[in-house]
Amino acid sequence: MAPMTGTPSDTSSPDGTGPVAFSDDELRARLTPLQYEVTQRAGTERAFTGVYWNCHDEGTYRCVVCDAVLFSSDTKYDSGSGWPSFYDVCDPDAVEIRIDTSHGMVREEVVCARCGAHLGHRFPDGPRPTGQRYCMNSAALRLEPRSGDDADAH
Ligand SMILES: [Zn+2]
Repeated sequence: MAPMTGTPSDTSSPDGTGPVAFSDDELRARLTPLQYEVTQRAGTERAFTGVYWNCHDEGTYRCVVCDAVLFSSDTKYDSGSGWPSFYDVCDPDAVEIRIDTSHGMVREEVVCARCGAHLGHRFPDGPRPTGQRYCMNSAALRLEPRSGDDADAH
């Protein structure tokens, strides 16, 4: 008969490598409305409107919610879809694939393995060598630009 106790957000693992959870209040305060809609409600930004679909900068794409490393600009390619597209992930364990049967279609949903954020979908029409197209939402990603060659030179 215990009373309701606060938020269930204190379930993150202590070592920082397991799944993490954020409170809804924090995410609403920290994310833009579009970022929140995409990552927490499996929304989709409109094609050709995101900040990364036509971005060719080199760097690492991280989860906008939990900062996990997801994609590299090395595997980004022009799919013509209007969304940032990659043919591979940095680490297979970085994302989780779920079967999405919404909208009368069977699609593979791509979510962040660390925090569960919705990222986009995966389609089997990508280029070699994987044949996969990770069709992502710019709003779910944050590009960390690659530092210059002389960053560590002294
Ligand atoms: Zn995440």
